[in-house]
Amino acid sequence: MGADLCPPLFQKGMEDMILKKLEESEDLKLFRELSLRMQLSDAENQYLSNMEKGYEGEQAFSNMLEKRSDDWLIINDLLLEHNNTRFQIDTLLLQHNGIYLFEVKNYEGDFYVELDKWFQKSGKEMKNPILQLTRSESLLRQLFQELRINIPKKAYVVFINPEFTLYQAPRDLPVIFPSQLNRFLEQLKNSSVKLNKKYLSFAEKLISLHQADNPYARVPEYDYERVGRGITCEVCSSFITSIKRDYIVCDVCGDKELIDTAVIRNVYIFKRLFPNHKVTTNTIYEWCHIIPSNKTIRRILSRNFIRKGQGKYSYYVDC
Ligand SMILES: [Zn+2]
Repeated sequence: MGADLCPPLFQKGMEDMILKKLEESEDLKLFRELSLRMQLSDAENQYLSNMEKGYEGEQAFSNMLEKRSDDWLIINDLLLEHNNTRFQIDTLLLQHNGIYLFEVKNYEGDFYVELDKWFQKSGKEMKNPILQLTRSESLLRQLFQELRINIPKKAYVVFINPEFTLYQAPRDLPVIFPSQLNRFLEQLKNSSVKLNKKYLSFAEKLISLHQADNPYARVPEYDYERVGRGITCEVCSSFITSIKRDYIVCDVCGDKELIDTAVIRNVYIFKRLFPNHKVTTNTIYEWCHIIPSNKTIRRILSRNFIRKGQGKYSYYVDC
């Protein structure tokens, strides 16, 4: 269970109403890194671009909620499990009269509904987001029963993109359209009153159940030989080809970064891509590609990481 992985809550005090901030997932970071360093298939590129778009949508929604009210609590990106079934919740908002489950969709363009089926304008059928919402809601209800939590609950799909239109939508769909979102949140804010401690401990309980590994991740297959080596620019992600004194210099955007900082940054990229490989002077020398001497690499590693082992078997771990 993820209980130990969660940061302690409430140490900053009640003024921080976002209890679990939205963060880029490890899968997104890994996928993005791979896209710079190897050829992805069309399907993988599409999947990555959907992930980026989904994240942008969640971020836009999170920005709308943040600082809007001191009288509610927000939990972003929860991955929970009930009966060996995992389910993901984009945003939970705890308010004095109930808990709101939001599934955020960043769809763009024209869509239509026919009976229970959802289609893109082109006629291509897509996953029905209401079914996804209903599934999460039902699993959350069961989890609440198990935890003996008795708080009323409402669930909505939030369409965040102003360029989204849905034709033939029944009036009773549990959705919030872009044109309704501000009014919805204002009403919610105006009806809120201060939460008592019960909600805090309840939120804390839910966050402690968050699962760290995402089983939905669909990372492409890759291995060391297939992945392009080299230091990428911290700003524009181009591969670096120039070094000037103590700096790497990006020929594309002109960014300058200290060699030490760039190497450390790329050690973490290496570790993300190859968690089972040991970080040694030679692997990082080969990985960074353009640093002229492995003595430089050894100096940077020994100053910023802890050395384990002796001689040619030595490797480095985080401090
Ligand atoms: Zn650059």
